[in-house]
Amino acid sequence: MVILGHVDAGKSTLMGQVLVSTGQVTKREAAKQTKLSWLLDENESERARGVTMEIGTKTIRVPKHDIVVLDAPGHHDFIPGAANADVAILVVAAVTGEFEAGFSGGGQTKEHIQLARGLGVTQIIVAINKLDVEGWKKGRYEEIQGDIKQFLLKQEFKEKRIQFVPISGLTGENIKVCNSSELSKWHKGPTLLDAVNNFFPANRQIEKPLRFIVTDVFSEGKGIVTRGRVIQGFVEVGDQLVVLPVGDIVRVSKLEHLQAPSDDIDDPRRLDTAIAGDTVQLVINDIDIMRLSIGNILCFPNARPPLTKKATARIIVMDKLAVPIIRGAQVIFHMHSLDVPTVLTKLVSILNRDGSIKKERPRALTSSVSASIEFTISDRIVMEAFSDCRALGRFVLRRGGETIAIGVIDKTL
Ligand code: GDP
Repeated sequence: MVILGHVDAGKSTLMGQVLVSTGQVTKREAAKQTKLSWLLDENESERARGVTMEIGTKTIRVPKHDIVVLDAPGHHDFIPGAANADVAILVVAAVTGEFEAGFSGGGQTKEHIQLARGLGVTQIIVAINKLDVEGWKKGRYEEIQGDIKQFLLKQEFKEKRIQFVPISGLTGENIKVCNSSELSKWHKGPTLLDAVNNFFPANRQIEKPLRFIVTDVFSEGKGIVTRGRVIQGFVEVGDQLVVLPVGDIVRVSKLEHLQAPSDDIDDPRRLDTAIAGDTVQLVINDIDIMRLSIGNILCFPNARPPLTKKATARIIVMDKLAVPIIRGAQVIFHMHSLDVPTVLTKLVSILNRDGSIKKERPRALTSSVSASIEFTISDRIVMEAFSDCRALGRFVLRRGGETIAIGVIDKTL
């Protein structure tokens, strides 16, 4: 799960409350801090290693799920978190003027939603926060809900995969229980933790060949630790894997789950195995740390995907694009934890909504159009057709700090 929202919307405060409510930290620990934001920081041992983590990681447990929370501080750090998440909580501040600034204007709310969707987040909880400041007014809640819902549906979130909850991260109201007389007068729906529990289980493709995306690398004792996510297939201690794109062969000597195992002796997290959907640390041998980097893919040597520089893709251009996209445009290609410069080598066609061709060889792509393009990146990486592997087949294009399009790969060339 990734936490999205404009700066100061209340993400850190809310996560502090969630971790307290689910018993991850004590109230006392939380109260020692003013902003609670430290709760998403790395623990002492990680800090002592002197390694800066790309993404802070915490886990929360609700009856139906164990959830790894990827912090998304906003701006450039945002993409790795979103790219490795199945689900999101979007925090918006209901305060008059604050919501408007974050949602319209120069705010990050819409871009966060588009990026998350483009990178594969399919379920979202919208936490309408700071309603205490607005006197728990139902009208204000519904107004914001209406605006955001319209936008989410436009981004092709399915209606049944969107949930809204009115909350105050500061007072803790409606995080675990709803007991403010004002709110409970009109809100009968779920608390935030109920909504988290309501998430549909993510789709796990265990039968497909292993793909492990490396989101962090560091050395620890004698081994090298790669933290990341199994996006399909499974991996076990003792497996020999190939690191792509470099091609080195490594052996997995240890496997640690980031989700805490339950007391159940049969809990798969007690085993030396990780399956699609798990976020784990693999301790690997037989490689120099300099050969590894974030965004590498680990897989079995006999089931390795080809490395490619060039592909055709279908993209949807964002609305409010400042400058049209032309052939030869140089942009940044973001896929899971990678960002690489790329050139849009061909504008093949503009497409209708049903996928049929509206115009061949357009000169430029403007706001909101769907198009078929060909792009070329500078170095070979693992890319797959979206129909073969969703996580390695979807991407976001950005230019000058602005998201200009989201896309899926049709065919690698
Ligand atoms: P972040 O930048 O999204 O992580 O936001 P923070 O969690 O740092 O919160 C920004 C400010 O809003 C802080 O001063 C918080 O105390 C305040 N804040 C957060 N949640 C609430 C809330 O529910 N009600 C009120 N009144 N203030 C809040």
